[in-house]
Amino acid sequence: MTIGNIGDRRGVGAVVDLTHPHTPAFPTWDGVPGVALERRASVEHEGYGLHVWHLDEHTGTHLDAPRHYDPDGLDAASIPADRLVLPLAVIDVRARAAADCDHALDLADIAADEALHGPIPAGACVALLSGWGERVGGPGFRNVDAAGVMRFPGFALAAARFLAEERGALALAVDTLSLDPGRSPDLPVHRFWLPSGRYGLECVAALDRVPPRGTTLVVGAPKIVGASGGPCRLLAIT
Ligand SMILES: [Zn+2]
Repeated sequence: MTIGNIGDRRGVGAVVDLTHPHTPAFPTWDGVPGVALERRASVEHEGYGLHVWHLDEHTGTHLDAPRHYDPDGLDAASIPADRLVLPLAVIDVRARAAADCDHALDLADIAADEALHGPIPAGACVALLSGWGERVGGPGFRNVDAAGVMRFPGFALAAARFLAEERGALALAVDTLSLDPGRSPDLPVHRFWLPSGRYGLECVAALDRVPPRGTTLVVGAPKIVGASGGPCRLLAIT
């Protein structure tokens, strides 16, 4: 049985799914598959279908809760619901990232973005659009170099600080595997951003399908007590 197109949608805008399908083949930080389904029951045998999930919290399109870098920080279940529905601002650095796979979104990128699209709204999720989302199906997503180091774009610490302190941003999102650039040895954006009580979203899909401003992001974070993050469904409403 399938469901048809909803068509005229209840007065809600168009919905863009910013979530990659999660499979054992989806690229992960450590290269170990992030999800597996174990069949516990099937319609054929038991009359109903049921799986047990084996799931790494930080795989697929996922949340980094403050708890990920702060033992006393909010866990995935404790992030207030009104922080999970917020304005989305997308900063397009695809040109710089194409020229430099280590590009860290910096203050110049924010200034250029705001000159074109206006100020980043208060309380936003600010997303890095590097173009890496298109690489998910191949080795170019982790982009491991000859020395075994992953090479992909992320945020610069100065930019993260500016977005927190001068723009009141609540969340950062990236279309890569990490808020910090892949080759970062000490992950300063994680160490600043998450203990400040803010959260991150990684491996975000389809950021090229939403405008730079004007959409509302809905973060379907898992409400699992104690979790340091977890795969989420991200929906942008235009
Ligand atoms: Zn992370």
